[in-house]
Amino acid sequence: MGKRLVILGAGESGVGAALLGQQRGYDVFVSDGGMVKDKYRLELEENGISYEAGKHTAELILDADEVMKSPGIPEKNELVKVIRKEGIKIISEIEFAYRYKENSKIIGITGSNGKTTTTALIHHICKMADLDAAIVGNIGFSFAKQVAVDPKALYVAEISSFQLDDIHTFRPDIAILTNITEDHLDRYEYRFENYIDSKFRITQNQTTDDYFIYCEDDPITMKHFRNYTIKANPLPFTMNRENNQGASIRNNMMTITTGDEKMQMSIYDFALKGKHNQYNTMAAGIASSTVGIRKEKIREAIQTFESLTHRMETIATVRGVEFVNDSKATNVNSTWFALESMEKQTILILGGVDKGNDYSLLFELVKEKVKAIVCMGTDNTKINSAFKDVSPVIVNTGSAQEAVYAAFRLASKGDVVLLSPACASFDLFKNYEDRGDQFRQAVRDL
Ligand code: ADP
Repeated sequence: MGKRLVILGAGESGVGAALLGQQRGYDVFVSDGGMVKDKYRLELEENGISYEAGKHTAELILDADEVMKSPGIPEKNELVKVIRKEGIKIISEIEFAYRYKENSKIIGITGSNGKTTTTALIHHICKMADLDAAIVGNIGFSFAKQVAVDPKALYVAEISSFQLDDIHTFRPDIAILTNITEDHLDRYEYRFENYIDSKFRITQNQTTDDYFIYCEDDPITMKHFRNYTIKANPLPFTMNRENNQGASIRNNMMTITTGDEKMQMSIYDFALKGKHNQYNTMAAGIASSTVGIRKEKIREAIQTFESLTHRMETIATVRGVEFVNDSKATNVNSTWFALESMEKQTILILGGVDKGNDYSLLFELVKEKVKAIVCMGTDNTKINSAFKDVSPVIVNTGSAQEAVYAAFRLASKGDVVLLSPACASFDLFKNYEDRGDQFRQAVRDL
């Protein structure tokens, strides 16, 4: 019998690691304290992997040689505390997958906002260039599952801070840190420094052969940069100056320079709109150029990338009122960028589960662009009091349908209704996708 690998959590990461573990000769046991989706149950059963659901049996867990903890399980979980106390090594799923990736390369993308967009754009560029690449993490398979069932020469991996918390050797050839703003503080003892540490961990095992792509215009990244020993070659992106390595946007023209390669492209040719996406495009462009993709291919891919659902997705225009679904905006910073990119008077739908938001960051843009705020949540008091002197109209609603009706009534021809809630969704919805889908349906029903 091989080493005993216990996996906590039977979702995409846990089941992916279970498949890989079993393939590599571990004695695998999966334990999930809650419900396991049918899809994953079936996958475990079909592969003869033992598991339990709805409970954690200590005896079956504490004899592990190693525990893989799924990113959704917090440190404050009682069992996790016991495992730590017993001195059993805890690893994350990306750490486990990394062991078996052989000679393949990794582009790892982390940050508070823009991860999925940047990851998907890089993958699109790689596809256009016919590279043997897979997207892993949030879209597609988990990294471990991809390595188990369909290994590739290049993995474009979206990586959350939770995945980085338990890495030991994981080393991306190219690391991207999109930006850092307060998020998930509930998982980091409400200490912003802990969350920042975890984001910078993406550089921890990098060497001078590797690259680190980061946003020079992000104040938190820049403030903390020097606290870490980063051996990778720095490739910054910025809108504030021209640089000789990395990327910049000056006078609506993007320049990407990596080594001796240089390419330029007008931002008007970007398929993705909005300033935040100009940052994401710079990051994706640098990474693609660093893996040697030709500039014509990069240019073509940036022009043809289709934006993702729930992220600044225009749903429809109803009697002159445009509806935009940015349900994925689950923190204040992403809502800021959504508002920043609005060119029309806006009815803003905000609300849900507040993660300790500081709404004052939005005041200036709200004053400038927002005609009315529609709160959509079970408890809207914090938004009401935050915006009472800033927004001329605030109304309260308790479902997507009510919110869409209210917003439509408040809007005039030529306005936009923007769902960019700045909050998590689980008070009224299953998740942000469900929130966006219900919003879309309500718009179609108008
Ligand atoms: P993530 O995967 O990090 O959550 P997404 O690409 O899914 O990021 O985008 C999440 C939200 O953040 C979207 O609503 C989008 O409008 C906003 N956003 C995207 N990129 C950025 C960025 N670079 N800076 C700030 N906000 C962004």
